[in-house]
Amino acid sequence: MLANRKLGKSIANQVFYEFRRQLEYKTQWYGSELVVVDRFFPSSKTCSNCGHVQDMPLNARTYDCPECGRSIDRDLNASINLRDAVGSIVNACG
Ligand SMILES: [Zn+2]
Repeated sequence: MLANRKLGKSIANQVFYEFRRQLEYKTQWYGSELVVVDRFFPSSKTCSNCGHVQDMPLNARTYDCPECGRSIDRDLNASINLRDAVGSIVNACG
């Protein structure tokens, strides 16, 4: 079914919708909070050390910052940026 472009996109959207719904349900069930970061937040393109933003092709696995010289795994860099973004959202909202 995923070979049909329109049907495949609809199925993929439904899967993400269900995943999000389950996350909301589970966080409410356990009394925790679900924080959603903007979908266009450049977590992979931003240096987690100095905040410099640069384009990152998908095949680049290491973030090499020309500003501060930091070299870090792409996914680790993105996860640090998301952690910091979530912290700032939670602090701004109480
Ligand atoms: Zn940097």
